[in-house]
Amino acid sequence: MVAYERAHPAEAGPDPAAAGAWVGDALVAGEAADAEWAAAFRSALEPGRDLRPFDHGASTRLLQDVIRSGLLRLTDVRDNPERFFLAHRIIAQAISDYAPGFWVRFTVHYNLCFGTVVALGEERHLAELEAMERAGDVGCFGLTERHAGVNSGLVVETLARYDAASDSFVISSPADGACKNWISSGLQANKACVVADLIMPDGTSRGAHAFLVPLRERVGGALLPGVSMGDMGVKTIANDLDNAWIRFTELRVPHSALLSRYGDVVDGAYVQKKAGVKNFQMIGQRLFSGRVCVAQAAMIFSRKIFDGARRYADGKLCWSPDGSSPPLSDLPQLRSLFAEGQATLDGLDDFIGRAEAALCDVLRRDAIPSLELQQAIAVGKVACVERCISLLVRLKQDMGSYSLMAESGFQRADFLQMCKFAEGDSRILSQKMARDRMTDFAKGRTPAGGSSEAEEVLCAQLAAALAAAEGGRGGRAAAWNASWRTVYRLADAIQDRFLATWDARASPAARPEAIASRM
Ligand SMILES: Cc1cc2nc3c(=O)[nH]c(=O)nc-3n(C[C@H](O)[C@H](O)[C@H](O)COP(=O)(O)OP(=O)(O)OC[C@H]3O[C@@H](n4cnc5c(N)ncnc54)[C@H](O)[C@@H]3O)c2cc1C
Repeated sequence: MVAYERAHPAEAGPDPAAAGAWVGDALVAGEAADAEWAAAFRSALEPGRDLRPFDHGASTRLLQDVIRSGLLRLTDVRDNPERFFLAHRIIAQAISDYAPGFWVRFTVHYNLCFGTVVALGEERHLAELEAMERAGDVGCFGLTERHAGVNSGLVVETLARYDAASDSFVISSPADGACKNWISSGLQANKACVVADLIMPDGTSRGAHAFLVPLRERVGGALLPGVSMGDMGVKTIANDLDNAWIRFTELRVPHSALLSRYGDVVDGAYVQKKAGVKNFQMIGQRLFSGRVCVAQAAMIFSRKIFDGARRYADGKLCWSPDGSSPPLSDLPQLRSLFAEGQATLDGLDDFIGRAEAALCDVLRRDAIPSLELQQAIAVGKVACVERCISLLVRLKQDMGSYSLMAESGFQRADFLQMCKFAEGDSRILSQKMARDRMTDFAKGRTPAGGSSEAEEVLCAQLAAALAAAEGGRGGRAAAWNASWRTVYRLADAIQDRFLATWDARASPAARPEAIASRM
């Protein structure tokens, strides 16, 4: 464990003088409709103003207070999804200036860790949630592994070996590369939802499964035998959040640790409980709600920086040859950028709001989103994050000395970097969009959501490159990589089409379908 004596200079916290009023005062979308609850939730977050980098204990205690307040139940992701999303938006708006990592700690607990319990657990698991809320248990989510990186999930090297004699699982990290890394809240949480490859006694792999395991007796306490971990180190942002690498050494957990709604070991044999539904596909369910949350957080964060810059530029008068002293915001390049930023953020807000509404309907029914809705969510996540990054980079270049001032918020722009790979890396999601589109193209099918001229042209180019490849599968993979610019252009074209034409009401969002085999 690394000990820190003072805040890292890159993240010394907001300047109280510059911060002025409690910045979380402005309302976020959906708040007026649930005003009384939102006011109570905001008030529970007020101590967030005092959170400081590296004080992981204080940040965790705030999360525990929120959990124990009962304002957001662990089952709300299913029973009241609108409130679940609203809670994420309020946190992004209210305390990301003070403690950018708190939003991550919150979503990892409510969505990734216990949201997975809600999605994959059986009645006996769900029955324990209330007691965990009362106790203020804090959960983390162990998916990412050192070797697999952004491909974690597709690749899972952590093992959960079933031991028939004791009817238990033994969780282990067989190599350094199999250690979990970047696990948010890992240094504080007492519970972890760990993704591991379920291995039967005869050595057969049953693929990725989720296990709810204890890490410590109590939040922030000593580690249990079989668990070791360390700090990932100082980050450029969000040091109020702890990130851990975790190694499992023969950690024995009871059979009941397996979240077994879709796959279980019964009488010594593996049983897939719902035909056609693989366990890992259901773990992926939480990534859909997570992507909506991440997209909205990126938007709220960026809009605050844009609004602050706009206020400054409207009030800053400049010299001009005719002596008229126009505001900075009258400069043509800034006027154009503010107009573009406003239109882009409004359009993306509308899009991701429609995706959220369609997903809420699916979550409430505990169903699986249609392939089209899954793609709309991926498009929304990539477009919101990447377009916000691009807008802020350009804005910073045109704001003069303001860009260097603490009040601008530009120094916290790496918040968007976290959004970029959380719940699905932009590149990985773009690759999947292009691959799925090429599958349809090769079969002569028009995707459910339609196509565009640009897509048809790019698909034809890629198909020609793949057809010319020699050397079987390896040759085609090499040709795909060699055409990487076309691949990402195709993903961009798919995003443009969705953003321009996707209509959630016309989408068969309600229809359960087999979900794509690769997340
Ligand atoms: C602050 C923070 C909090 C996190 N919290 C959690 C958590 O709670 N739980 C958890 O499980 N994980 C968590 N993660 C992990 C996160 O979701 C990513 O998986 C992880 O950061 C990957 O990092 P890496 O550098 O190993 O990626 P790498 O795998 O090294 O990839 C680096 C970059 O290369 C590119 N790339 C890699 N492979 C491909 C490919 N096949 N095709 C195209 N491009 C590719 C991508 O652009 C990628 O961004 C967290 C990460 C951070 C930084």
